[in-house]
Amino acid sequence: MTEKYSLFWFRRDLRLDDNIGLYNAIQSGRKVICLFIFDKNILDKIETINDSRVNFIHNRVQIINNNLNKLNSSIIIKHGFIEQSMKEVFNEYNIECIYVNKDYEPYARERDNMVKKLAEARGIGFRSYKDQVIFEQNDILKKDETPYTIYTPYMKAWRNKLHKKDYTEYYTDLKQNNFAQIGKKEIPKLESMGFKKSKIIVPDYDISNKIIDNYAEYRDYPAINSTSNLGPHLRFGTVSIRHVIRKTINSDPKFVNELVWREFFMQILYHKPEVVDSCFKKKYNNIKWEIPDDKFDKWCNGLTGYPIVDAGMRQLKDTGDMHNRVRMITASFLCKHLLLDWKLGEAWFAKHLIDFDLAANNGNWQWCAGCGCDAAPYFRIFNPYEQTKKFDKDYTYIKKWVPEIGTDKYPEPIIEHRFARNRALDRYKKHLAQE
Ligand SMILES: Cc1cc2nc3c(=O)[nH]c(=O)nc-3n(C[C@H](O)[C@H](O)[C@H](O)COP(=O)(O)OP(=O)(O)OC[C@H]3O[C@@H](n4cnc5c(N)ncnc54)[C@H](O)[C@@H]3O)c2cc1C
Repeated sequence: MTEKYSLFWFRRDLRLDDNIGLYNAIQSGRKVICLFIFDKNILDKIETINDSRVNFIHNRVQIINNNLNKLNSSIIIKHGFIEQSMKEVFNEYNIECIYVNKDYEPYARERDNMVKKLAEARGIGFRSYKDQVIFEQNDILKKDETPYTIYTPYMKAWRNKLHKKDYTEYYTDLKQNNFAQIGKKEIPKLESMGFKKSKIIVPDYDISNKIIDNYAEYRDYPAINSTSNLGPHLRFGTVSIRHVIRKTINSDPKFVNELVWREFFMQILYHKPEVVDSCFKKKYNNIKWEIPDDKFDKWCNGLTGYPIVDAGMRQLKDTGDMHNRVRMITASFLCKHLLLDWKLGEAWFAKHLIDFDLAANNGNWQWCAGCGCDAAPYFRIFNPYEQTKKFDKDYTYIKKWVPEIGTDKYPEPIIEHRFARNRALDRYKKHLAQE
């Protein structure tokens, strides 16, 4: 154990190129050992053995390994709890310093503090880098140095601050000399970790001019493939945000504005981690939701009798994805029409979405319930029929997911629209008036 190494620990940055933490590990001048830990703390909570996220991660780690194998190196894989896994790595290799990219979720922050302490107690360094976002929590603050809680002024400040250097890509020098020469190792099979292959294959992202130039016009139509599908790729870092911004910054601003939503919610979660369990607008914690019954199961399984809602919920279960417009309609339906707690819907999406991201999912659910940080008044209730007329008037999307539409196999609506609307307005109004 004489040679000293830099350890690069992959997490939600599953790529070799344009990876700031990895770049800095290589810059250290020491050979780099690459590590990925299948964290039992997270995996043990996943109920579905063919979980699409675990599959996607496994697949991307395999790709990284294939590339490292060409350099007579490998990614070290651990399947266990973080502390124990790290100790094993420290005992096996002489690590001088750990390099990571920052992760802003509450669990990840705690985990990283723990590893930093563990490392430092052994005289090992710990360096973390901004990589996942263009601007992190304290990069964009109001004049009084507090975080923005309204999107539009945040977005303007984000754009004003943006400079070419913020989206300059970092070149990773993939040469043998930069990586620990530990030979070619296989990565463990999914089955050895208690998982199975998923039928869900994550499509590539598309930020070609065809998508970006037409984004503003077509992004709301679920039957058209007109969005970038960056969701899972940004979530797991299989593409860098700098690359995406560099390619799209001079096109229609609408697209980049969506990426700003992503960073907006991330900085909200960082500054206000209490949103995980509570409404951003505290008063909304007073709302008395209905007790979930079979209507909740019908929502989950796409059997509400509202075709656009059912199409979305079935798409989600089948593919791990749902079009953004339909996410808004189905979420609104749960918290307004069914008057069920938005946290139930948030958890269902978290279980199924391949692009599940705590900050974005929580922020958007709170937005749909009207209790979030941005102005979305509770009395704006999506009408599923009007939404269908506007965004799927030929029923192309609906027919794809609800083929029995128009036959007696399709259920009657589980709740009448006008009744549901009035009930929601009354309930919200009544409870928001309480102190
Ligand atoms: C109830 C609800 C829950 C959601 N949960 C998630 C989630 O868990 N993870 C997630 O990434 N997105 C979530 N979204 C936002 C949005 O629906 C998805 O990002 C989008 O549908 C992904 O498809 P795309 O990559 O083709 O998006 P595009 O329309 O091509 O957008 C490009 C990227 O911008 C970002 N983005 C777009 N819209 C939003 C938004 N409203 N909030 C935050 N970021 C956005 C995403 O990173 C997205 O990949 C949610 C939206 C709603 C209404």
